[in-house]
Amino acid sequence: MNVKCPVCGVAELIHGTRDLPHTYKGETTVIPAVTADFCPACDESITDMAETERVMREMQAFNKQVNAATHASDEEDADLQRFMDEALADLEAELVDLSKADQECVAQALLSPPPPSPALERAFERRTRTLDDLLAMQGNEPLAIDREWDVMPAAGREQAQSPDPDP
Ligand SMILES: [Zn+2]
Repeated sequence: MNVKCPVCGVAELIHGTRDLPHTYKGETTVIPAVTADFCPACDESITDMAETERVMREMQAFNKQVNAATHASDEEDADLQRFMDEALADLEAELVDLSKADQECVAQALLSPPPPSPALERAFERRTRTLDDLLAMQGNEPLAIDREWDVMPAAGREQAQSPDPDP
């Protein structure tokens, strides 16, 4: 399935592995073999967590090299380190939010399942009858149908228990 670029929304992302150019203080390097979803319209590359970390480490290493070559102060290095740490923390927080949202979706689906279809109700009745037969064979009382309906979702229970047509 193709996904539109989340940055520009113009083009669909193309998954692939490419060398990514990186420029710092006018110096350019290439980060080799970056696997990402690339946008052909705006040149955005969307990497996964592991690849993002690798790319950032490579960028950081290169920036340090440039700084060393240009005799940048330790303070500047510390700034860079902070910037990278914050960017990574943001990314991690985003990923956590995403998985939380997923969990909520699942919880929501469990709390409000779709109303039972006639086919599902028939299957449910069949299952109840089979269960009753089984219990009868073992000399037990058949289950009251009402008790079985209790495990049905609310929507199904209403349909099943109101014989009156809608006013
Ligand atoms: Zn784009």
